[in-house]
Amino acid sequence: MAIDPELIHALHLSVEDHAAATADPAAAHRAFQTSTVQALIDSRYEGDLSVGELLAHGDLGLGTIDGLDGELVVVHGQAFVARADGSVAPVADDVRTPFAVVTPFAPGTPRPVKGLAHDALLATLDSLSTRPVHAVRAHGHFSRLRVRSVPRQHPPYPPLDAVTAQQVEWEIGPVDAVLVGFRFPSLATGLEVPGWHLHALADDRRSGGHVLIADLDHGTIELDTVTEVHCELPPGVEIAAPADDLADRIHAAETQANDAAPEGPSR
Ligand SMILES: [Zn+2]
Repeated sequence: MAIDPELIHALHLSVEDHAAATADPAAAHRAFQTSTVQALIDSRYEGDLSVGELLAHGDLGLGTIDGLDGELVVVHGQAFVARADGSVAPVADDVRTPFAVVTPFAPGTPRPVKGLAHDALLATLDSLSTRPVHAVRAHGHFSRLRVRSVPRQHPPYPPLDAVTAQQVEWEIGPVDAVLVGFRFPSLATGLEVPGWHLHALADDRRSGGHVLIADLDHGTIELDTVTEVHCELPPGVEIAAPADDLADRIHAAETQANDAAPEGPSR
């Protein structure tokens, strides 16, 4: 995977292997990532890092768990998984994750917001962003919240686009919920999901998933500037050969998924 030198300058990106990783759980404005989106595209769905270890690096974030068994949501230092059957469950510390990003969330002043449909919500987040990378927490009442998740995969693992073609989408709103996630620049493609990547968890902890559409009726937005990304690579995952068609492959996978997605459980 190619990583743009600009990104490295923008982020003070550090890439280390597991053994060399230095954990500083108290470090604010630092995001910690295990593995890469490219590794997922290469069908590496087996977790390397335990969720317990992940939580030592941050209290807010997202990702997936072993075998792509749902969407990982980390809120207030607690990890939950939203599965493709519509269920949500706490994640035990010994469960492993093949891809996740967390940060010790240290936001600025919460901003009250009202009547933000999905695009307006993202535009508002963009307008409040001062750096290429931000972490966000948006809490409130969502008049609409459409999410997706993917079913657990078993070896031999199919390619990611085949998995996302089986993704399940459903509506969990109107609902009181929190969205957590990150904005990464497009030049982080391959390392991260570019743009705003948000996962949702309902306040009653009974529904959630990867956010497709979020219309925020009223609530608060909190943003944290991320100035450093610490990327820990599992053994065998490298950042090396360029994959020029990566963005196209991600786009193709998402487009295909959106066309093919079956309607999920209604809750
Ligand atoms: Zn996601």
